[in-house]
Amino acid sequence: MDFAFIVVGAGLSGLCLARLIVRSELADKRLLVIDGAEDDEALRTLSFWSDAPSVFDDLVRHEWSTLSLQGDAAGEAVTQTLGRHRYRTLFFADLQRAVRAEVQAQPGCQVLAGRVREVTSQGDCAEVEVGEQRFRARYVFDSRFSLSSLTVDTRRFHFLRQHFCGWIVQTPEPTFDPLRVLLFDFRTGHTGLAAGESFFYLLPLSDRRALVELVTLSAVDAPQALEHYLREVLGLREYAIEARERGISPLTEQPFSVQPAPRVRRIGIAAGRIKPSTGYALSRIEEDSRAIVQSLVQHGHPHVQPRRRPFYAFADGVMLELWQNNPGRVPAIFRQLFRKNPADRVLAFLDERLRLGSLLLLIASLPFAPFLCACLTWILRRLGLRRPAPNTEPT
Ligand SMILES: Cc1cc2nc3c(=O)[nH]c(=O)nc-3n(C[C@H](O)[C@H](O)[C@H](O)COP(=O)(O)OP(=O)(O)OC[C@H]3O[C@@H](n4cnc5c(N)ncnc54)[C@H](O)[C@@H]3O)c2cc1C
Repeated sequence: MDFAFIVVGAGLSGLCLARLIVRSELADKRLLVIDGAEDDEALRTLSFWSDAPSVFDDLVRHEWSTLSLQGDAAGEAVTQTLGRHRYRTLFFADLQRAVRAEVQAQPGCQVLAGRVREVTSQGDCAEVEVGEQRFRARYVFDSRFSLSSLTVDTRRFHFLRQHFCGWIVQTPEPTFDPLRVLLFDFRTGHTGLAAGESFFYLLPLSDRRALVELVTLSAVDAPQALEHYLREVLGLREYAIEARERGISPLTEQPFSVQPAPRVRRIGIAAGRIKPSTGYALSRIEEDSRAIVQSLVQHGHPHVQPRRRPFYAFADGVMLELWQNNPGRVPAIFRQLFRKNPADRVLAFLDERLRLGSLLLLIASLPFAPFLCACLTWILRRLGLRRPAPNTEPT
């Protein structure tokens, strides 16, 4: 056997798992990481929130304890100070550099550049084909994912595409409040989309530097919308674009199959690790990677199912129902959520970690009518009694 493990794809999930394997108490850690990155507008920043140590702690470049939400041009922003959580950001390039160095420093471990053509499971090993080369390992972790080949049963589940387009911008003068993340800014009239179908997100990296991101549920002319937002909504006269990121994430509550073959375990987006109602994946990827390594240590195989909590899967489905069929209600719902609950409670809810008492308080704070409607529609959909909306068909 060439290696104990092969990780296909050195994106977020591949690097997270590689780091945990290298740091684990596994006796045989011979690891090959194959990196086929070819996107020059790839991920730049990765944000998450936490109230506990994370495998990414040493890489966090910025953290904040104040979050705000801007409903519309007329309404006041809702601002909340976090108690035990911190909103945190790291740069993908730092993660890449750190984990590659860590892997390469281990005896028997390597990082290889190349596009994987095929992964097959054969008896007690799996084989990976890269160009003319073939590598064998006890287990392969595969993070390859293609949105166009994802099939969702849209009679029973939602399928939305979350489009991101972000710029890191610099201004000559102090412009941004470096202490406050603008998590949702629904002042998006100029994008041509309904309020709620799109929002801006502003992450201040200093008083003159910020990531400004447009998130939409349909394709729009994002550069033009970002420019308009910076000039007309934020009132910036001068700015320079330092870096760009762009991508599309699938949002669906349909479960993903994680074991395509006996010796292969999918990871990352390919294993359904994007939280369907938010688009965040980092914490869920870390949780899944830790479970995989723990299973390897305890049972000698990586075949654990990602944790799925039925109530939260239901809540994700209801939220997707709102995003898809009633997006106009979303800004007010988020506003109410953040106004009537401590932000720590909202973040713990989004991470599926709320205790029952706090969960009931949070549910009681939500407007009743749109949720009742969305719940009923969700039930009809799960029973297969509702037609898929046209924009939910897979491409
Ligand atoms: C623009 C953008 C911003 C995001 N920001 C956040 C955020 O702030 N916080 C958060 O929690 N989530 C965020 N997400 C969601 C999610 O965390 C990311 O998409 C994350 O990159 C998913 O990790 P992954 O490992 O599944 O996929 P990727 O990071 O895309 O990794 C897959 C890797 O596989 C490689 N690969 C593909 N095919 C092959 C092949 N044939 N051979 C070899 N290698 C191959 C790719 O080059 C890539 O490096 C964001 C998503 C996007 C699109």
